[in-house]
Amino acid sequence: MNEELSREGGCLCGKCKYRTTGDSPRTILCHCRYCQTLTGSALSANVWFPEEKVSLLKGDLSSYEMKTESGNLVTTNFCKNCGSTIFLRLNVFKGMVAIPGGSYDPPTFWFEPQVENFCRSKAPFLETEIPEKNNTHPMYKPVREDIHPHTKKVTE
Ligand SMILES: [Zn+2]
Ligand SMILES: [Zn+2]
Repeated sequence: MNEELSREGGCLCGKCKYRTTGDSPRTILCHCRYCQTLTGSALSANVWFPEEKVSLLKGDLSSYEMKTESGNLVTTNFCKNCGSTIFLRLNVFKGMVAIPGGSYDPPTFWFEPQVENFCRSKAPFLETEIPEKNNTHPMYKPVREDIHPHTKKVTE
């Protein structure tokens, strides 16, 4: 483990680049519907860091904010040019920022996910050996029906 090891990554078009320093205290695979629709993929592999360990090296970011069914606020930052998500923040994880793991330059998957959340909506073709699996999330407490703007109610 090298605290000072820097790693870089960026967006699809290459206009945005970021750098993270050190190892991630929390790396999470998430199978929730928000992550699936955000990425257009089966899951998110978010690598979390304290804000001060993350810097934007170049590029212009736009942001999008949404409230989850638990009433939490999610903010994403994405490249103005190509739309790739670069940073993610959750109001309940103050001072932390998540990097979408697949956006790292090779060797991309240097991190080891510690936990899988929202396995209730996991793609049936995915199998991992990560021991900690949650059907939803330890802090999951929906306060209202899912009102995801583009999909029907989550029924699981
Ligand atoms: Zn871009
Ligand atoms: Zn998720």
